[in-house]
Amino acid sequence: MQTTDILIIGAGAAGLMAAYRLSASGRKVIVLEARNHTGGRIHTISHESFFKHAELGAEFIHGNLPVTLNLLKEANIKYSAAGGEMVRYDKGRFIDHEGFIENWELLLQKLNELEQDIDIATFLQKHFPGEKYIGLRDGVSKFVAGYDTADPKKASSFALRNEWNNEDADAQHRLDNGYCSMINYLADKCKEHEGNVYLNSVVTQIDWKPGDVKVITDSVEIYSAEKIIIAMPLGVLQANRGEKGAVVFHPAIKEQINAINDLGFGAIIKFLLEFKDAFWENNGTKMLAGKSLKDMAFLISDENISTWWTQYPKHSTLLTGWLGGPRAAEKKGDTTEELLQQALQSLSNIFKLSVDELKAKLIASSIMNWTAEPFTRGSYSYDTVAAPEARTILDAGVDNTLFFAGEYLYDGPAMGTVEAALTSGQNVAKRILNNQVF
Ligand SMILES: Cc1cc2nc3c(=O)[nH]c(=O)nc-3n(C[C@H](O)[C@H](O)[C@H](O)COP(=O)(O)OP(=O)(O)OC[C@H]3O[C@@H](n4cnc5c(N)ncnc54)[C@H](O)[C@@H]3O)c2cc1C
Repeated sequence: MQTTDILIIGAGAAGLMAAYRLSASGRKVIVLEARNHTGGRIHTISHESFFKHAELGAEFIHGNLPVTLNLLKEANIKYSAAGGEMVRYDKGRFIDHEGFIENWELLLQKLNELEQDIDIATFLQKHFPGEKYIGLRDGVSKFVAGYDTADPKKASSFALRNEWNNEDADAQHRLDNGYCSMINYLADKCKEHEGNVYLNSVVTQIDWKPGDVKVITDSVEIYSAEKIIIAMPLGVLQANRGEKGAVVFHPAIKEQINAINDLGFGAIIKFLLEFKDAFWENNGTKMLAGKSLKDMAFLISDENISTWWTQYPKHSTLLTGWLGGPRAAEKKGDTTEELLQQALQSLSNIFKLSVDELKAKLIASSIMNWTAEPFTRGSYSYDTVAAPEARTILDAGVDNTLFFAGEYLYDGPAMGTVEAALTSGQNVAKRILNNQVF
């Protein structure tokens, strides 16, 4: 049995940020990670001749996000603006993205007038009924499913208005050498301060009493500590007993598990397809008004695999596909081969190249169905109407012994992001350092 001050379960952004802060303050930490690599939903892949710093998970810094940007500055990690044009492909033709969601201003106005939180689907039915607003209802529902990867029937109107009122569309960035450079920095810092990160350590059981925790892994390793930070994804915490990755608490923590189940966790499939050439730039496909697609960053379509983006402004032959929300959840059981076929069919419909032509151009593909991944079981969290109360319960921890960290605990406009995870990791470390007598 190994003993330490603080055990941390999960080496994602939240767990590693907490580990860095605590170890830098002289606490002994052990991080236990189920996978054979750190990062969790940050997963950069590279190959000699394709997929140069390609992101299977998080890719963008969505705006001017203080915790992320300060950390990158401290680590001297470079990042570059994403930018580019957003285009739309609808009913067989390319159109300008303007008017992307009709009556957007009116939607925000009505949302800002809302006094009591309700789910966004009910909000739309109530405030934008009838034929006149079909376009608005459909556009918003698709946006909530696509971007927030959420179920509109559960997603909180208050949380979405907070997100939409704070949108900073021009300030997207990518890390030059991939998000993994930030994860590597955190893990290295933790080790520098004598912290340990153990991979391939699937935690299955947490036995605890105040000030005393014992953790058991699937290879029956036992670790003990005075405190534990549970930094696993919400999807894993919501998993049923016996499912891979799921953890049993002794004694049970009913109130906290109920709070966990009150939060929303979305679904996502991300497709990385590397081609011999950037056919979207030069196959003569034209947007409305004869504009070319050379500067295309994002493409939103009504196809099965609906959203695609390029690496603009960097010239690259990589196309990234994205399917989120309830439609992604339905595809949880699809094989990689089936998903690839669906992706190529969608691209074939949009760019008028046959699937065989696309296959001949395809150099490599990597498809991550995050909902089917046992150690994630979804995309990222979204707020339900019950979320603020649930977060209060989880933020309080249990008996100054069990603490929670993860993107789902963040309360602010950057919900579901790396910023959310880093902030939560930082906050839990502060809470432990401020309260405790070791
Ligand atoms: C496809 C996709 C795209 C995204 N794009 C962006 C983006 O562009 N920008 C952005 O800011 N955010 C993005 N996000 C969200 C962002 O990646 C997450 O919010 C953030 O990385 C979550 O960090 P975390 O530490 O809370 O959880 P995680 O990164 O999920 O870390 C939790 C860790 O716990 C481990 N674990 C699980 N079960 C066990 C167990 N039983 N025992 C031990 N370890 C366990 C997991 O393996 C994992 O490493 C994206 C997410 C996905 C899935």
